[in-house]
Amino acid sequence: MTKPDNAEQDRWSNWSGRQTASPRHILQPSTEAEMVAAVDRARAEGLPLRAVGATHSHSRVAATDGVVVETDSWQGLIDADPDGQTARLRAGTRVFQAGPLLFDHGLSVHNQGDIDKQSLGGAIGTGTHGTGPGNQNFSAVVEGLTLVLATGEVVRCSTDERPELFQVARHSLGGVGLVTEVELGVRDAYKLHETQWFEHPDDVFGRIAELVAATRHFEFFWQPDRDSCVCKSLAETDAEPDDLPDRKFERIGWSHDVISSVRDNLHTEMEYSVPAEVGPECFFEIRAMIQSDFPDLLWPIEYRTLASDDVWISTANGRETVTISAHEDVTLDDRPLFEACEAIFKRYEGRPHWGKVHYRTARELAALHADYQRWWDVRDAYDPDGVFLTSDLAALQPG
Ligand SMILES: Cc1cc2nc3c(=O)[nH]c(=O)nc-3n(C[C@H](O)[C@H](O)[C@H](O)COP(=O)(O)OP(=O)(O)OC[C@H]3O[C@@H](n4cnc5c(N)ncnc54)[C@H](O)[C@@H]3O)c2cc1C
Repeated sequence: MTKPDNAEQDRWSNWSGRQTASPRHILQPSTEAEMVAAVDRARAEGLPLRAVGATHSHSRVAATDGVVVETDSWQGLIDADPDGQTARLRAGTRVFQAGPLLFDHGLSVHNQGDIDKQSLGGAIGTGTHGTGPGNQNFSAVVEGLTLVLATGEVVRCSTDERPELFQVARHSLGGVGLVTEVELGVRDAYKLHETQWFEHPDDVFGRIAELVAATRHFEFFWQPDRDSCVCKSLAETDAEPDDLPDRKFERIGWSHDVISSVRDNLHTEMEYSVPAEVGPECFFEIRAMIQSDFPDLLWPIEYRTLASDDVWISTANGRETVTISAHEDVTLDDRPLFEACEAIFKRYEGRPHWGKVHYRTARELAALHADYQRWWDVRDAYDPDGVFLTSDLAALQPG
């Protein structure tokens, strides 16, 4: 290991500080052999293991009092294949590092989220997504994975090789192995033209289908205090930055420089995925509830679109999706707002984001995801002794 591990209990917290734990050991492996040793140690000591990337999950998906394996010492591009449109990267590589590494080979990830701080292992672990009706989440664009199983064995999986393990590992919640390598489907590098503007929600929804269809990525943040939407569209372009007449609300750049924003204000977040066709109605119900019950809310509601996929526990499995997120300052009690939002999301068959706050039970999650039981059966078969089964994950296990 590169740094001494914490033989005494140490404090762990996620990015916002809202989720904490007291792991027995915090390890920082920098070789595959050290990754295997970390799993062997957890198994030998009977402690649950969690890999962590950027700790940007708002839920307890990365938390454990057992063994934390930090992946920041395990980063970088392994190889890129521009003809095959794939690239292999170490799982600890952050999204902001992957951009330039791929760009050196004329490549880019298909899409990314609001921020680019996540590790690839973490982004895959929770189905991290961006916006755009043609853009799938990170889990759906994975083509293969290498991981250390609970036995310490290092295996590869893909749609052709151990396909059931692949279905679990490409959206694993950290629960089936320690992912070492991620083979991503990628595309040729591309430029985007970003435009931002303010618009009233009634006007946005008067032409929402047109706005969503007009560019590769459209989203907005509704600001409750002004009842106004900060709209953002990103259109693929071959133009140059100098071609822009208005540089205040527009910019042109390579996708990895343009898609993500900086979000330094610590907050917590709930996000639900609803069927795309009911997205507008769901948003208006959330808006009305906030205007009536939370008139002082300062944090925005985000509205995005997401393409359907076939990943077993993805929130976009089998349906074109709209995602709606509520935020709250991390120093405030988020529960009243999030419970009120969740009550609405439930009426729209909403599926909670796995890396964000929700209060759903195992039984409810099983009803929302057709392959939920299957995901657990395969997970349990590969890890019968629960090396990757933290108490928080076990709480989601169907009865
Ligand atoms: C400011 C902010 C903005 C965000 N924006 C978005 C957004 O736009 N879209 C979106 O969908 N989400 C968003 N999120 C949520 C975030 O993308 C996810 O929670 C993501 O999982 C965080 O990545 P991470 O590297 O921090 O993972 P962590 O939180 O460290 O871990 C997440 C899960 O992945 C597992 N994991 C990590 N590495 C490995 C590995 N090597 N092997 C096996 N399992 C592993 C962990 O065990 C855990 O279960 C945002 C969060 C924040 C705080």
